Amino acid sequence: MRKTNFTHSVQILGMGTAYEEAKVVVFGAPYDGTTSNRPGTRFAPNAMRIESHALETYSPLLNLDLEEANVCDVGDADLSYGSPERVMEELETVASELLADGKIPLMIGGEHLVTYPVVKAVASVHPDVHVLHLDAHTDLRDEFGGSKLSHATVIKRIWDLLGDGRIFQFGIRSGTKKEFDFARKKRHTYIEPFRINTIGDVLENLSGKKVYLTIDIDVLDPSIVPGTGTPEAGGITYRELEYFFLQLRDVKVKLVGADLVELSPGLDPSNVSTATACKILREMALILDKN
Ligand code: MN
Ligand code: MN
Repeated sequence: MRKTNFTHSVQILGMGTAYEEAKVVVFGAPYDGTTSNRPGTRFAPNAMRIESHALETYSPLLNLDLEEANVCDVGDADLSYGSPERVMEELETVASELLADGKIPLMIGGEHLVTYPVVKAVASVHPDVHVLHLDAHTDLRDEFGGSKLSHATVIKRIWDLLGDGRIFQFGIRSGTKKEFDFARKKRHTYIEPFRINTIGDVLENLSGKKVYLTIDIDVLDPSIVPGTGTPEAGGITYRELEYFFLQLRDVKVKLVGADLVELSPGLDPSNVSTATACKILREMALILDKN
């Protein structure tokens, strides 16, 4: 009799709750088909699975431990290459199935476009959902390179779906004048450029409401996370993000899903970007589990 146990794949550290028991389900969306600059985000989920084992399951910041949480990493969604339309359908199906099973989806991108089908699935179950968006970029273009579906248009597509008063953008420091006018002048979204100082007040105002959180890792300064396709100087510090996580842990919004996107592990040979992404994902999973 064989005494050694073998596993068929690496699971993210501390995310080994059985699917049936899990409250939060983590899955990868390894897609970067519309990336405009440097591709590679499709490799993020598996790079994070390996790197996560250098992390502790306990978060001293949140005083919560993955060992006591009900989080399951189910692996990567089996996605087509090429056609973004087809990938959108596939991801919407994945998210809808998780929601139908009563799970909270926590997706690892992939490029930012993968957020759209998941929000679409979430909005069909929770039509009153609000979206918190942390990013260096507005992502409010109506089309990019002739395509309506792009990581540069993802928040505009979500606005098409949800409309005014539902999208809250933070840390934004890049976009066209037209995009900034759409948010700032016409107030189709709430936007705090450059920093995330008002995020606590916004969370207070959203008390009792359903919220989906999308974090584009390039919201952090590229000195912290150089491993991303479109780095943008002038970003927030990790400490600012931690302060947000503390607010999010204690706030009374109902979190219905979240994602972390745009890590491109191959662009940072030191792996610090991937390690940072793992830490962010751990805090997100713990907050969703406790919520
Ligand atoms: Mn983005
Ligand atoms: Mn971005």
